[in-house]
Amino acid sequence: MNSLSNSLAAADIAHSLHPYTNARAHERNGPVIITRGDGVHVYDSEGREYIEGLAGLWSVAVGFSEKRLAEAAARQMAELPYYHTFAGKAHEPQIRLAEKLVEMTPEALTRVFFTNSGSEANDTVVKLVWFLNNALGRPEKKKFLSRIKGYHGITIASGSLTGLPVNHKGFDLPAIPVVHLTCPHHWRFGAEGESEADFCARLLREAEETILAEGPETIAAFIGEPVMGAGGVIVPPEGYWAGIEALCRKYDILLVSDEVINGFGRTGARWGCEKFGFTPDILVTSKQLTSSYMPLAAVLMTDAVYQAIADHTEKLGTLGHGFTGTGHPVATAVGLENLKIIEERDLMGNAARLEAPFQEGLRALGGNPLVGEVRGIGLIAAIEMVADRATKRGFEPAGKVGARAAAFAAEEGLICRALGDTLALCPPLIVTEADVARILERMGRALERTADWARAEGLV
Ligand code: PMP
Repeated sequence: MNSLSNSLAAADIAHSLHPYTNARAHERNGPVIITRGDGVHVYDSEGREYIEGLAGLWSVAVGFSEKRLAEAAARQMAELPYYHTFAGKAHEPQIRLAEKLVEMTPEALTRVFFTNSGSEANDTVVKLVWFLNNALGRPEKKKFLSRIKGYHGITIASGSLTGLPVNHKGFDLPAIPVVHLTCPHHWRFGAEGESEADFCARLLREAEETILAEGPETIAAFIGEPVMGAGGVIVPPEGYWAGIEALCRKYDILLVSDEVINGFGRTGARWGCEKFGFTPDILVTSKQLTSSYMPLAAVLMTDAVYQAIADHTEKLGTLGHGFTGTGHPVATAVGLENLKIIEERDLMGNAARLEAPFQEGLRALGGNPLVGEVRGIGLIAAIEMVADRATKRGFEPAGKVGARAAAFAAEEGLICRALGDTLALCPPLIVTEADVARILERMGRALERTADWARAEGLV
């Protein structure tokens, strides 16, 4: 290590508490300091080059060196660095981005509320849905349906919607009324000999029985990611979303599509809800909205949702909700420029075109003895490793093999994300076919090294 990275590492160990990190392990191991980006690559303080196979956190659509976004931010900083949108104030980037999002989303969605993060967006969803049901004179209709392994954020309400133990344990969550339904992952949760169609029918029956047991008059909304991301990249069975949408309509339950990862071409279609053919009442987007160059998220809603909320603000005198950064001018200016680039360069089309080489190439790695399932759609995928392929038995303790494999991948020059013993990939939308080939090569070598290591450790 050079002296600058040594002193940065020491300062980091001394002063930071890192998200999603074992703090004691971090004190021992120190940080990997990322110093710069170039296209699909990032570089660390030792000068090592990595392909960023997760696009940061599933988010950097245009890559890590897009000058147009830096220029858009600088222009806006010089013109109007900050203004709020409370009490009827507005500014051009926020107005234009809301207009653009309405143009780019399914026709039924007509209004936008901005937040700084996906978690805040989902907290906003919870509050707006509660506000709306209070407005409609049905204050008992407040519960949310979500799914085990769903990820919706980590704030009090969004963290409650999330269906992952790591986000609940130690935090006294869930803290709002939420019921988590079975995760729609046939390979893992299908019963012995159960077909995908039977599995889907069982999950839809479970959803309806849950609604009836809880009382439809108490269920406000169903929230789900069309394709689950952080829960392990889970593509639901055919017919799942159509069935969920039908139940929502039957029991007057709002349908919320959390597209924080799915949006802007990630699944090979523009939106996940379009890929799976359903129409949400509320859609949440973030991440690729600005390629994460600035923090920004948006909640889109139908006219019916908006009208009920608007009436209630008239009655109460205001909408008592909003952030200092709601519609931040620099973030929205960057978002606008980013969406322009996505359109001009047809990056959504690029994701659709590269789906086959990416997904098929990953499935070809399935011969590795550790690989239980390779799954994904568009430019998002996961490789789940297991101790026994026949029984799908996982490793004990969970997560050790995944962490080792991600470390081997990093040594091979590929950043991926270990979710337990599942490796996730979600490369920038600007990837080329040659980049995809390099990702596959590096992942293949990392899996081979992991299998050798697992054998030596007696894990398989
Ligand atoms: N929803 C989904 C589907 C997400 O993937 C995430 C973040 N990974 C969030 C919400 C929360 O977003 P944030 O981290 O910006 O709060």
